[in-house]
Amino acid sequence: MVTKVAENIVKSLGQIRQEIDEITAQSRFNETVRLLAVSKKHPVEAIRAAYEAGQREFAENYVQEGVDKVEQLNDLDLVWHFIGPLQSNKTKLVAEHFDWVQSIEREKIARRLNEQRPENLAPLNVLLQVNIDNDPNKSGVQKHDVNALAEFVSQCSHLKLRGIMTILEADTNENQQLNSFAAMRSLYEQLQQMHPSVDTLSMGMSGDMRQAILAGANMVRIGSAIFGQRE
Ligand SMILES: *Cc1c(COP(=O)(O)O)cnc(C)c1O
Repeated sequence: MVTKVAENIVKSLGQIRQEIDEITAQSRFNETVRLLAVSKKHPVEAIRAAYEAGQREFAENYVQEGVDKVEQLNDLDLVWHFIGPLQSNKTKLVAEHFDWVQSIEREKIARRLNEQRPENLAPLNVLLQVNIDNDPNKSGVQKHDVNALAEFVSQCSHLKLRGIMTILEADTNENQQLNSFAAMRSLYEQLQQMHPSVDTLSMGMSGDMRQAILAGANMVRIGSAIFGQRE
């Protein structure tokens, strides 16, 4: 990889970490915010550069691209998150290669992942993707269906319910973002009362990270601000 590109990744990672620390200091939530590096559409060399700078958790959106990277980088101690849409014919690959799945929105997908998770691996960590704004064009479980799906996942012995994630609409203003993220935070706290394994609220991307952390995110998923624009 061109050294310049690797240098930029290291620099951007440093800036993002510093930004996260600054925003966390202003937030009323006293929680550590984990940085997930979203590496979709970027080459394995970019991931290696981020690894050299101390990054360990990475996320991919497309099954085959993700599986290829997991295999090519199996010399590194990485934690892999699947965050994209998941069809039932691809669940086996995800169950075999990833540590986390953040995009569960249907019982059928959860059931298949549970059945297909290899016995020799730790339970697959699961976040339920929530359509917090009830946007008809968006994927994710509706707010009022979260409890039932969470209950189902919590009964699956090869899955571990860790929390919820959301993606907001692209063209909302900061106030709307804060409101939606706050609704996610209260949903998260309710879920935690019922399921003690819940410890992860994944929200905030390059464009809305500040609002997400201020509203109580403890995991942010950052792609372009670390790796640059995707083609
Ligand atoms: C692509 C993607 C991200 C990262 O988006 P950026 O705007 O590049 O930070 C985060 N979460 C999900 C689900 C994504 O698909």
